[in-house]
Amino acid sequence: MSRYRTLNKSTAKRGKVLILVSPSGGGKSTMTKRLLRDFPLIRFSVSATTRKPREGEIDGVNYHFLSEEDFMERVRDGQFLEWEEVYNGIRYGTLREDVEHQLEKGYFVLLDVDVLGALNVCDELGNQVMSIFLMPPSLDVLKDRLVRRGTETQTSLEQRLARAEKEISLAEKFDHIVVNDDLEVAYSEMKSIVSTFISIE
Ligand code: ADP
Ligand code: 5GP
Repeated sequence: MSRYRTLNKSTAKRGKVLILVSPSGGGKSTMTKRLLRDFPLIRFSVSATTRKPREGEIDGVNYHFLSEEDFMERVRDGQFLEWEEVYNGIRYGTLREDVEHQLEKGYFVLLDVDVLGALNVCDELGNQVMSIFLMPPSLDVLKDRLVRRGTETQTSLEQRLARAEKEISLAEKFDHIVVNDDLEVAYSEMKSIVSTFISIE
């Protein structure tokens, strides 16, 4: 049984948005898994992407994997709260309806988005949003973690690292910065920030 607040459906207030942002490899998926385990009021917003699924990724769970045509059709239709071409030719976006639906039910919606997407959501939703930037201890450690994760080709690794420096330079724009050096220390800090955010009426 979780120690954190759960939803009383009859008195549910509109929820808020929680944004976890970092360079690729910064630890968002790792932290997201833990937050979803520990906070029943948090729901993950499943983004759409035009990239191919990695081994073990499930359509509708990790991402909505869309063709380029389907993605652009939804862009034209205004279905995205935000979207970005994060890497050359690869698009990612947050579906407005998914987020709205969960907010109306009183859930806190967790977005895992790139830095520019996060800034766009902060602009659009203002004080409905709390953002945390997960800071890698250094670029060398970030590279090492991405290599060890074993999910990237040489090209996609280079693309991710090339973006990381720019992304890190924007960290101050977010509400909190958590250095993801020791995982347990970083998660404990995140948990404290998130539980304060969730308990504020
Ligand atoms: P992101 O979702 O931001 O791309 P991940 O959560 O996939 O990042 O983390 C990248 C890799 O680094 C994963 O293999 C993960 O297990 C590992 N990792 C994350 N945080 C730490 C940490 N504090 N110490 C060591 N390894 C970590
Ligand atoms: P990956 O391909 O490693 O899953 O994600 C690559 C990058 O895309 C990460 O920085 C991730 O946060 C970002 N990303 C994932 N979903 C979205 C989204 O919906 N919108 C935006 N703007 N970026 C996203």
